[in-house]
Amino acid sequence: MLKEKIVKIKQEALGAVEKAKNVEEILQLEIQFLGRKSDFVGILRQLKDVSAEEKREVGQLANSVKVEIQTLLEEKKKSLTSTFDAQAEKIDVTIPALKMRQGHLHPLTKIQNEIEDIFTSMGFEIADGPEVEDEFHNFDALNMPKDHPARDMQDTFWLKPQSDIAKTPTNAANKQHDTNKNTDARILLRTHTSNVQIRYMEKHQPPFRIIAPGRIYRNEAGDSTHEHTFHQFEALVVGDEINVGNFKFIAQEFFSKFFKKEIQIRIRPSFFPFTEPSFEFDISCTVCDGKGCSACKQAGWLEIGGAGMVNQNVFVAAGYPSGKYQGFAWGFGMERLAMMKYKIDDIRHFHSGDLRFIKQF
Ligand SMILES: [Zn+2]
Repeated sequence: MLKEKIVKIKQEALGAVEKAKNVEEILQLEIQFLGRKSDFVGILRQLKDVSAEEKREVGQLANSVKVEIQTLLEEKKKSLTSTFDAQAEKIDVTIPALKMRQGHLHPLTKIQNEIEDIFTSMGFEIADGPEVEDEFHNFDALNMPKDHPARDMQDTFWLKPQSDIAKTPTNAANKQHDTNKNTDARILLRTHTSNVQIRYMEKHQPPFRIIAPGRIYRNEAGDSTHEHTFHQFEALVVGDEINVGNFKFIAQEFFSKFFKKEIQIRIRPSFFPFTEPSFEFDISCTVCDGKGCSACKQAGWLEIGGAGMVNQNVFVAAGYPSGKYQGFAWGFGMERLAMMKYKIDDIRHFHSGDLRFIKQF
């Protein structure tokens, strides 16, 4: 009798475990079939009333059934737990992907690359020079001697003279290696990229055509069109028979390619110490093509920069014989060009580091 009851319990238990859907049900079944108040334990209690032989037989059967049920419960529990995990890790291919953030070039770098591409396609070489410059290459050699009023046109960041720096204890020890240098030469942050003209000509002979893009510094208060640090772009073409017509052609080619439309050039007389004659040049308005609009204040023209035929004094300072060569030089602010191209209204955006601005390009 007891044996049959045990076999019946076993069958019930196997069926119930098989149907269990979660871990909680398994725990319930464990209590139901093997707990202290279960039928199974009740049968074991009845063993005391049976014969020794039956006790042994039923005892062995009960033991194996108990182990069987326990094993089954364990396995079912494991399978339910691992199924649960697998579901949690399942990849839902319908969820929209996270967008990867990608870096990109700064608008000024883009403009500079574009300018360089256009000029190199016209056979120009790209030249570079120091941003910390001496007085000679920034001013004197460009026909701006110390007492020249034109120096007042460019407010300058002067740096501590090298002789002052040499007085500090760490530098004094190194000074003996330095005795040939003129430590009293005044140094500054270059106020224009024109220093590259001199440095290039000191090492090269005409004919040549170069551009010199780079960062420059002016000691002045900032507003929406002025910054103490900005970028200039310089072009210099020198040869035997270079004239203003060459300048006008190159400028027209460049701006037409840059703005991807036909651009006219207009030049007006002006003054710069390093050029003679000097002129300001305008381009036809990129918005209205010269008809007149608010961007050009109805003039049809936009002021772009300065240019001129290289002053012979500059050639002489760079080591060329006077009167032998002719050339033109011109420069303009890269920020201004970027502002025109991208319709930006404040120069201070460029160095603000504000991602809301930079991400638009
Ligand atoms: Zn216009």
